[in-house]
Amino acid sequence: MTRTVYDYSEIDFEKPGKHHYQVAFHLDSNWGYSLVPMTVINGLRGAAEPGVAAIGGTHGNEYEGQVAVKRLCSDLNPEEMRGRVLLIPQLSESACCANSRESPLDGVNMNRAFPGNPRGTVSYRISHFVKTCIFPRVRVVLDIHSGGNEAIFPLCASFHPIPDPIQRSEIAKVAQLFDTPFIFLYSSQMASGLLTDEAEAMGKITIGGEFGFGESTSPKGTLHAYEGIKNVLRHYGLLPGEVVKIDPRRSTPPRFVQAVNLEDYIPCPQNGVWEPTVELGAEVKEGDLLGRLHDFSDHSSEPLEIRSHRSGVVAALHFAAQCRKGLTLYVISQEVSLDLSL
Ligand SMILES: [Zn+2]
Repeated sequence: MTRTVYDYSEIDFEKPGKHHYQVAFHLDSNWGYSLVPMTVINGLRGAAEPGVAAIGGTHGNEYEGQVAVKRLCSDLNPEEMRGRVLLIPQLSESACCANSRESPLDGVNMNRAFPGNPRGTVSYRISHFVKTCIFPRVRVVLDIHSGGNEAIFPLCASFHPIPDPIQRSEIAKVAQLFDTPFIFLYSSQMASGLLTDEAEAMGKITIGGEFGFGESTSPKGTLHAYEGIKNVLRHYGLLPGEVVKIDPRRSTPPRFVQAVNLEDYIPCPQNGVWEPTVELGAEVKEGDLLGRLHDFSDHSSEPLEIRSHRSGVVAALHFAAQCRKGLTLYVISQEVSLDLSL
């Protein structure tokens, strides 16, 4: 049974067992609500640290996180668990219903709305709820993304460069639990107001990731998101059992790659139709052809060849064929080794 709460101080975060809520945030222009689904689990086998929050649907047109977190809402059994798990499968519920990156209610991208505002429009009020009610009750925050219709990424968990070496080392170890081929350290300068930035700044063990693209539901991405979250719960003792190998066909551990400088996020030089010529995750050398931009206003014109500005690993490509000047066309990352011993 799902209980609707209009005042989020009524959510009982301590109650043993599993409890489903929808948290009502009033609309800005009509009588009505965005009803954000949330499941609160307190394991019946006792306490455990840390608490874990898993969030999907921060962007509405990214589905692996929505599906994986929703499945966990029904699959996790508090009788075999310890500690606290908070599951929010569709954080930007209105964007999820609309299959869009931003909420159609206020035009706000939830992943640019942090730290939120209790007097702001609906997206800012939801992000304020996450910052003030969810983050303080957990130490681990998992925010599952995919490329939507913006970009395609190799399957990856991700995090930002973290100045604190102990926090960075723990985040890197937890990111490995998703068993993705890549773990992407990305720039925090591309945007402000990110959910993960806010959680990282509060000292949380914070993992993002890109588990698919193209407004579809990738079976492989969903598997890594679902089992990755369960691995995090197993790792910290909230679920019994050993961490599982999610992709038994890949014998190598996840590769850490980083693109922490804006110079590695290359904007599209002119409007055109984008024809990529490389695979995601490919190793490229400086000067290698990455793709062509076609100008159909003159079909006899030569395409503009896009060549890599440096050697490295292709970490993202623009998804849609139509690309506008200024949008990020590609990202080149560098393989790094991280100190995981701390
Ligand atoms: Zn996203």
